[in-house]
Amino acid sequence: MRFHLNKTISFEVKNGITVDDPNDRLVTMICDHYCHDNKWNYFLDDVVGMLYDLDTDNFYSKDKSGRNSKITTQIKKELYKIAKDNGSDKKIVDRNYDKLALKISKLYSSAYKLKAYWGDKNLLGEGVYEPHPTCLGDHGEYKDCKKFLTTNKRFQVLVLENTIGDKKGRGRCITYLPGKRNIILFNFYQFRMELVPRVWVEAIRRLFNLEKVKFGTIDSEDLNIPVYQNEDAIRIYDVKSRIIKYGVNRIFNCPYCLKPTEYKNLIEGESDDYLVACKKCFPDYQYYECYDCGESKHRKDMIETNDGVLFCVDCVGEE
Ligand SMILES: [Zn+2]
Ligand SMILES: [Zn+2]
Repeated sequence: MRFHLNKTISFEVKNGITVDDPNDRLVTMICDHYCHDNKWNYFLDDVVGMLYDLDTDNFYSKDKSGRNSKITTQIKKELYKIAKDNGSDKKIVDRNYDKLALKISKLYSSAYKLKAYWGDKNLLGEGVYEPHPTCLGDHGEYKDCKKFLTTNKRFQVLVLENTIGDKKGRGRCITYLPGKRNIILFNFYQFRMELVPRVWVEAIRRLFNLEKVKFGTIDSEDLNIPVYQNEDAIRIYDVKSRIIKYGVNRIFNCPYCLKPTEYKNLIEGESDDYLVACKKCFPDYQYYECYDCGESKHRKDMIETNDGVLFCVDCVGEE
């Protein structure tokens, strides 16, 4: 998989759904709309089944006869069938249907154009790609996360931008390339526009020239990397992708000396400073002078008194 770092692309986002689990929302809306009519309680299973047969992701989609049609029109047609199959008049569907259609259409965004590009990692958390400065920023509590991200090419910032209007809508996430044709996105921010997962996935698909991709959520234990805090990751893959352990066994640069180091050999800090570093750079693993004999010894071979004074094991042993 080639990483097209300098590429910027533009693409149109169709008038798509802006909520997760659209079918659950649609079922609730339809049932609420007809709740005054007891008959509809018996139709519920039919309504659920009907929605799963429709393409509810986009406001316009091909109906069962292959014509482009509004989702609200398609649902109405199917509701007629359900009413008929249950021995009811189709008039019960017509009742205030416009109101229901309006509510449904509000679940969909209008079509718009987006620009996608790889952002500057140094700007992460500074409130340029985000609505406000975040903990990753230079003044944030997790600024060491940013150090890890900027020193490792496996991480990039994907930025999406609305191309119309003076006040641009924008969003960004961190892209992680662990290997074996896996792409992981996490730490999403957006402002002045709604960016559902499929929009991010579509941007990635185009940036990497992938024909067809799938995506799904990922367990936080599987993505055991120090910069992953928000538990919002999605994994994008295609038929050639292989499942791997995304964190362990990957090689990362130590953020301080830049030496490539296997993840299991990096030391993770307890505090937010020195989030992760190689053994040579990690403060607790450095060499210190023994207070008693003055010899320089490895921190691991020293004992610290309650007052924070360090003695080597040899000197402590003699007492
Ligand atoms: Zn180092
Ligand atoms: Zn000593």
